[in-house]
Amino acid sequence: MLARHAESRVRETYLEPLVAGRIRICYAMAEADVPGTDPFLTRTRADREADGSWRITGRKWFTSGAASADLVTVLARTGGAPGNREGLSLILVPTDSPGFRIVRELPVLGAAGQYEIELGGVNVPGDHLIGEEGEVLTLGRTLRSLRWLGQAQRAFDLMCERAATRSGSRGPLADHQLVQQHVFDALLALRTTRPLVPEAVALPAWAGRRLRERLRRRAAARGRASRPGARRCRRASAARPPAWRPPRRRPGRKGRPRRPGWAAEGLSSGRR
Ligand SMILES: Cc1cc2nc3c(=O)[nH]c(=O)nc-3n(C[C@H](O)[C@H](O)[C@H](O)COP(=O)(O)OP(=O)(O)OC[C@H]3O[C@@H](n4cnc5c(N)ncnc54)[C@H](O)[C@@H]3O)c2cc1C
Repeated sequence: MLARHAESRVRETYLEPLVAGRIRICYAMAEADVPGTDPFLTRTRADREADGSWRITGRKWFTSGAASADLVTVLARTGGAPGNREGLSLILVPTDSPGFRIVRELPVLGAAGQYEIELGGVNVPGDHLIGEEGEVLTLGRTLRSLRWLGQAQRAFDLMCERAATRSGSRGPLADHQLVQQHVFDALLALRTTRPLVPEAVALPAWAGRRLRERLRRRAAARGRASRPGARRCRRASAARPPAWRPPRRRPGRKGRPRRPGWAAEGLSSGRR
């Protein structure tokens, strides 16, 4: 996100140490008393000062890793009022800025690592705004996707390591067919999700607006289709027998249904 949408000075300062793991970043969107699933209600404000810098005021909570982070990406309102769909921006805030404070740690089902933070009139340079002012909610979503993808990859690596090193009386876990199936399914999910993220990043804000407009039109068309006349038509067609049915699977040995693609996945144990 920084590589694509940050100003050059910000990229030069933060990107390389972030990628190298020398500094850490966290993401602050959720706020107390505001549903986290509806960020349009965000109350934290960022106001432009006369010198072009941003003054940020608000409280966030459930910010994962805030206590050990050097930077926090804050979702703040640079225009409009809570509830408006426009006017939300992402701003980078160094955690050593005066006015930034960790209020408390919030345990979640016994797990630590989430914090409530206060932004008490924190001042950051004007170029710390990421992307276009008021148009960047989509970037926040992308950041979440990237973080979860990274977590999933990490979990996958740990799973493979464990499967290779944990052994029972019948050999390592990795030799069991079901474990191989789990590994395959997880890898497939990772590989198919990864290409979608750069695609989402590449979607400019106007494409997001066009997408929303198309979804709105489709929802309106669905609404028309669910009127009483259309419902009667659907009921009549549902009563008709289907024109084509898939052929019934021939049972395999011992009456078990055959599993398509088993051999193709290279997972056959050779015992069957
Ligand atoms: C472990 C953990 C780590 C977190 N880390 C971060 C972080 O790093 N940064 C950050 O900003 N936030 C973080 N959060 C907060 C997270 O973003 C919010 O919890 C999340 O956005 C959901 O918001 P909420 O808890 O306010 O739920 P609510 O918005 O109150 O939703 C409650 C429930 O209602 C459902 N719901 C809401 N609207 C609808 C609807 N229209 N239709 C049907 N169902 C609906 C939701 O699915 C949910 O199940 C973290 C949370 C947890 C638990």
